Amino acid sequence: MFIKPLKIPCHILKTMALDRRIPVSHPHKEFITQRASNLYSGYKGEKALEYYLNFLPEDQFFIFHYLRLPDKYGHFQMDFLILSMYFHLIIEVKNFYDNISFDEFGQSFRIKAEEVQVFNNPVEQVSLQHNRFVDWNRCNDFPAVPVEKVVIYSRDDIYLRNLTNNKLITDLVMHRDKLLPKIQLFMGKHKTLRLTEKQLMEMSYKLLEQHTPEKFLLIDQLGITADQLVKGVECPECGNIPMKWSVGQWECFYCGKVSKTAHRLALADYALLNQKYINNRQAREFLQVNSVHSMRRLFHREKFSHVGVSSGRKYELSVEKLLDE
Ligand SMILES: [Zn+2]
Repeated sequence: MFIKPLKIPCHILKTMALDRRIPVSHPHKEFITQRASNLYSGYKGEKALEYYLNFLPEDQFFIFHYLRLPDKYGHFQMDFLILSMYFHLIIEVKNFYDNISFDEFGQSFRIKAEEVQVFNNPVEQVSLQHNRFVDWNRCNDFPAVPVEKVVIYSRDDIYLRNLTNNKLITDLVMHRDKLLPKIQLFMGKHKTLRLTEKQLMEMSYKLLEQHTPEKFLLIDQLGITADQLVKGVECPECGNIPMKWSVGQWECFYCGKVSKTAHRLALADYALLNQKYINNRQAREFLQVNSVHSMRRLFHREKFSHVGVSSGRKYELSVEKLLDE
């Protein structure tokens, strides 16, 4: 069962919001777009594994998506951690396309149009996570349990090659459809009961308690100020900003698209990049709406919860609800 279900991490949502709001002319635009695209692609790879993990027996496996735990070196992160009373499993997910080869130096690389792109060695990456997790387990006084690890390439159409038949790579690296058979293999290999159900629960609680989500520092690191961000509602059809609010709906000057909900993504961007409370004046400024009354009607229609009265009223923006379409 999923103890920590799949959910897109906040720093990824914020990077994507920044990408939508940074003007094309900004010197860091390309860098931000690339970063947002890489992060989202990584998450999509993890999402592609969810289907398979649902087949694991509910009561035997406790599944955690995206754990970032503190240790003496800082923090270490695991895409998935699966706990059981017999063994634990760390899964590192790669969402690469085309082809990946592993050579005699353990390098992983892709050849495309005769160009070689070299990537981090995922086997070393997951091995390091393994060592740090074993340490974490010991430091938190949990009994020693065998820890297995795998690297999963989440796209079916990727061509994986192990050029030197390195056994470690053959054992650890695989396509996503090999994951369940591999877990079956681990279940056959580890038959000794190592933890009680109570210890497993305690450990789950400790993991959730210590999970420290990655901070979003990009705005500060790149020295971006609020006035550099683009204001207005984006057209869901053609991407033009701003749409105009007219008689209860948004209209795009450019392509003619009308929408009653296009402001939701903009308000999510506001909540992600500024703060989760917004008042009428701030919303008019960010959504580029002139009328106080129109803005109030729009808030009323959305049924946002609010604090304060009359002009001091602030509305609470729930990113989850705003992005849930
Ligand atoms: Zn448009």
